[in-house]
Amino acid sequence: MRWQMGRRSGNVEDRRGMTPQGGRGLKGGGIAVLLLALVGMYFGVDPAVILNTFQGGDLPARQEAGVSSPEENKLADFVSVVLADTEDTWETLFRQAGGTYEKPKLVLFSGAVQSACGFAQAATGPFYCPADRKVYIDLGFYSELKNKLQAPGDFAQAYVIAHEIGHHVQNLLGISDQVQELRARLSQTEYNKVSVKLELQADCFAGVWAHHADRVRNILEPGDVEEALNAASMIGDDNLQKRAQGYVVPDSFTHGSSAQRVAWFQRGLKSGDIRNCNTFNN
Ligand SMILES: [Zn+2]
Repeated sequence: MRWQMGRRSGNVEDRRGMTPQGGRGLKGGGIAVLLLALVGMYFGVDPAVILNTFQGGDLPARQEAGVSSPEENKLADFVSVVLADTEDTWETLFRQAGGTYEKPKLVLFSGAVQSACGFAQAATGPFYCPADRKVYIDLGFYSELKNKLQAPGDFAQAYVIAHEIGHHVQNLLGISDQVQELRARLSQTEYNKVSVKLELQADCFAGVWAHHADRVRNILEPGDVEEALNAASMIGDDNLQKRAQGYVVPDSFTHGSSAQRVAWFQRGLKSGDIRNCNTFNN
């Protein structure tokens, strides 16, 4: 991906090396969250449901607080450029549709973080919190993506951000609220199906971003699309469930199969039109 010359976003909150704020004691809060997650698992609750309220995980932080390597700082720079590109792209698309794009913040953290959706540990993977309209990402996830999930490449990394931004777009369009309302009326199984549609639409929106970013700024290099498609496939439910060890990515448990993720990303990428991303009618 050609990114070095790109604009840097002013909306990155770098909380790497910071202790989570919010007054909840790590000990008490951690145990409560863990219990909640266990109860959720026992009753077969989709972990994404828990993600909306609390984040749980019992893996230790992989990173010493306050230490960031040059490679990691380069990655932070890359994230800032991808975020800026999603801002420019979605601003244009919203304006063309007569709307206004409200830019989200992106929080970089290490170890653990406090969000309006609860306390999150790095092991939970990247996520979007609709309540504070922020994307949260621990840069360590990228080494997991590359090494454990075998999805290397800068465009695979960009795709992960674009997917989370896709959730922000859904939030702005009121889609997340509609899905949330359905939750009370549907059985868990039915709701999970709707939840998958929401995730696949975020993939399609990521494709829409890639389409326009490439057309306007010519960001794609040979192999980039394949990197994103490979990532989409590697973090599909079926593949993750097969692996079932290593990094825990609760947001992706309800993402749909690898084939579905690839298909919807491609649909967005080819058309560049969000009207082709109506996963709810499929
Ligand atoms: Zn998602």
